[in-house]
Amino acid sequence: MNSLLNKCIESGNIGRDEIIFLLGLQGEDTVRLIRAANEVRQRYCGDEVHIRGLVEFSNTCRNDCLYCGIRRSNTSVRRYRMTPDEIVATATGLAKRGIGTVVLQSGEDSHYSGETVAEIVRSIKASADVAVTLSLGERSFADYALWRQAGADRYLLRHETANPALFEKIHPDSTLERRLSCLRGLRRLGYQIGAGCMVGIPGQTLEDLADDILLLRALEVDMAGIGPFIPHPGTPFAGEPAGSLDLTLKMVALARIVTRDALIPATTATGSIDEFGREKALEAGANVVMPNHTPFPYRVDYEIYPNKRCVTEDPNQCGPCLTARIFSIDRTAATGKGHSPRHLRAQAYKATKGHGCPWSL
Ligand code: SAM
Repeated sequence: MNSLLNKCIESGNIGRDEIIFLLGLQGEDTVRLIRAANEVRQRYCGDEVHIRGLVEFSNTCRNDCLYCGIRRSNTSVRRYRMTPDEIVATATGLAKRGIGTVVLQSGEDSHYSGETVAEIVRSIKASADVAVTLSLGERSFADYALWRQAGADRYLLRHETANPALFEKIHPDSTLERRLSCLRGLRRLGYQIGAGCMVGIPGQTLEDLADDILLLRALEVDMAGIGPFIPHPGTPFAGEPAGSLDLTLKMVALARIVTRDALIPATTATGSIDEFGREKALEAGANVVMPNHTPFPYRVDYEIYPNKRCVTEDPNQCGPCLTARIFSIDRTAATGKGHSPRHLRAQAYKATKGHGCPWSL
């Protein structure tokens, strides 16, 4: 165990069997794994926590993912769509308050054409000095290219599970291959890419979770979002148990260990299954928080799982509350855009050599 933890700290070059073993740790051994990840986080990322302002601009979705509360078959959802003007005003308002990254997220909603989203991104970039992250699901390569040209910096598209059969079971409208091809396309277009998974999906095994960690490494992700599955009553998974905090924290720790310096959020879902879940994730290797700035009346209706944190609270309080939580664990809140270190290295290489880097950065 000592030599494995040393390997985790010194190189992160651990294999599938070792990851499975680490995912099975209990009690004090889990604490040791989390401490090792925290050490890697401190060494490679420092104490700063990056803040991303999240705007969930539409809960309309054409997909029927078995776990998701806003799936198209859930007729009890009150659907909303923010107008482009509302989205731009919310995003620029965040920038005025010093938030360096705006994350625009929605269901898969083709109501927003490629050009509409591009215009939203252009307007935000023209009026505010912010990084823009998009998270709109699977779209065409042409749309991704248009949005990148318009100035979008990053794209979040979790792979959800690296097990292709499980992926297809829970996503009747897609395949893992298609999801990965979207992620690779986004990378080719120069986006900073974020993948990630849910922990505790019905039918998921420790082997699957180990493959999730290996996939994050293989994709050389800039961002890795990991959170527990939480059952929603309006879905086929209503009666299933939620993913555990303990396993989620081990996954966050392992993502930190293998990626070294990726941007890893302490997810809202982790904070929704445990009052101090986000602080615990920050102490297990995470270095990003995403305060929810979706305005009223919309924010209560982006119910991807029940009892989502903070949805009835004033969005203006989410930032200060999360900053206080960051200080409470002796970390500091970063200012600025907080680009991915991997991306910055790749850009620096290109600037000096005049071409992209032929090996991994
Ligand atoms: N449509 C975009 C996409 O699919 O990437 C973004 C919206 S989607 C609702 C955002 C994330 O919510 C998903 O990546 C998924 O992991 C998470 N999610 C959805 N339902 C969930 C649930 N019941 N428990 C935990 N996370 C959930």
